[in-house]
Amino acid sequence: MKHPDKNIMRELIHDQWTKHSIYAAVVDEAGQIIAKGRTTIGQDNDPTAHAEVNAIREACRRLGVSQFPDGCWLYSTFEPCPLCASAALWAGMDGIVYANNPDHRGKEENWSFLSCEEVLRAGSYIHQTRLVKDFLLEEIKDYFR
Ligand SMILES: [Zn+2]
Repeated sequence: MKHPDKNIMRELIHDQWTKHSIYAAVVDEAGQIIAKGRTTIGQDNDPTAHAEVNAIREACRRLGVSQFPDGCWLYSTFEPCPLCASAALWAGMDGIVYANNPDHRGKEENWSFLSCEEVLRAGSYIHQTRLVKDFLLEEIKDYFR
């Protein structure tokens, strides 16, 4: 599997444009989506119910694991926050790909007090997680305008 994969990210970007939520997915070594997640903070009364955490939780349930096997990547339509970047580290994900970023989120600037890159760097002793930033950014950067 070669990351980043345009088809996977385009599917998530399409989900965001049509279903109006940030979307994330856990992808296995073969490039198959194990689970998708969307943000459900309000409906679940759960401040940790971010798209990425929901995708990781569901993928772990489906595989019956708390750490993913080698080759699993996290895709997200938005830069993972510190919570989600940390969850990816704990889950042993090999990489993260995200599309949009806080520069294109208007009035909510600085909502993410640490960048995804900073979290992964600080946690690199836990797991080495690669990062692909701003992938297909042009296709989603106007979402919050
Ligand atoms: Zn998050």
